[in-house]
Amino acid sequence: MTIAEMNYSRYKFLLVEPVAKTSYPPLGLMKISTMLKERYKGCQVIGQVGNSLESRIANPKKIYITSLFTWDWKAVVECAKYYKHNFPNSEILIGGIGASLVQEDIFNKIKIKPHKGLYDEAESCSPDYSLTFGRKNGASITFTSRGCPRDCGFCSVKELEPRFFVKEEWEKDIKEEYPTIVFWDNNFLASPNFEKDCIKIETINKKVDFNQGLDSRLLNEERAKMLFKINIDPIRLAFDDVNYENAVLNAINIVKKYSKKEIMVYVLYNFLDKPEELYYRINLLNKEGALSFPMEYRAPTTRINKAPGTNWNTYLLRAFKLTLLFYYKKGMITKSRNSFLSIYGKNEKEFVSRLYEIYSYDKKLKRKAKGIGQSEGELT
Ligand code: SF4
Repeated sequence: MTIAEMNYSRYKFLLVEPVAKTSYPPLGLMKISTMLKERYKGCQVIGQVGNSLESRIANPKKIYITSLFTWDWKAVVECAKYYKHNFPNSEILIGGIGASLVQEDIFNKIKIKPHKGLYDEAESCSPDYSLTFGRKNGASITFTSRGCPRDCGFCSVKELEPRFFVKEEWEKDIKEEYPTIVFWDNNFLASPNFEKDCIKIETINKKVDFNQGLDSRLLNEERAKMLFKINIDPIRLAFDDVNYENAVLNAINIVKKYSKKEIMVYVLYNFLDKPEELYYRINLLNKEGALSFPMEYRAPTTRINKAPGTNWNTYLLRAFKLTLLFYYKKGMITKSRNSFLSIYGKNEKEFVSRLYEIYSYDKKLKRKAKGIGQSEGELT
């Protein structure tokens, strides 16, 4: 009997996502599932969110634990401890983005060194969509390329995926019944297969989301003609630095010329920027009729508390977050010009003073809720 013909029904594998904080299931574990099912015909693979001991999880041969955000590293450590305690004979493997970036800290806690970056053996496998990890799967997820030829200072892609390469057979990841394809390419426009892949995607004829955003600096008329034959919805760009203003405005104009779809722009802040620069960018986007999706930079460390960037402080960060929570849905600054101006003010100076006012007001409310009277102390 060859290895391929052997039956591995006695083998059990447990795939664990310690905390589920996004709407997408853990793709890495879904690929590992396919790898295991191909390698050990008949084996049982169980997907699990958090720490739990269901009867069907008895004695797994291996336990794979994933991670996403570095600030959830303690949950990853606790998860590994939990399963190590309950299944002392199982091999425990840790991987994923968060653990890759704080590898040493995790090792120091539990003496298991997490795998860093892509898991080559599973990389070529399609996701096992039968595992949902509690999500309602409705979109195929794939990559036409990995890595990125750029090296932006705030981005961890260079560390996680140091090699930029194309994937030729990404279409095998597509599930026919799903109406949407989500591409998780770091930089689709930089791919040498760009033209070829646009034609392939157009032929597949499904709604497409380039979820990580398109690189404005690489969008031109020629590329737009290829790109916008695809049903891209929404169109995502990024405006991470005020110095890219011309490239971003140019990209927005090109997009408007070829598509009527909503333009959503990721706006990084709290890195080297000033709060005034954030206002400048979101104001510009608002005037252009694009939606801003501000993303707060957090250094890839095990620090649980947020750390303000050089030009920011905790008051401003807190107040800006509050505006997104209370005035907007899903953290997205919508098109309404009037709302924008009434929330953030007419210029950079007003923006900063509004944020301080919001912070003070929030603090006042918190003190009130705690029953601390005005006489006990002035607001700062
Ligand atoms: S272009 Fe995007 S993916 Fe590439 S390094 Fe910069 S931020 Fe990262």
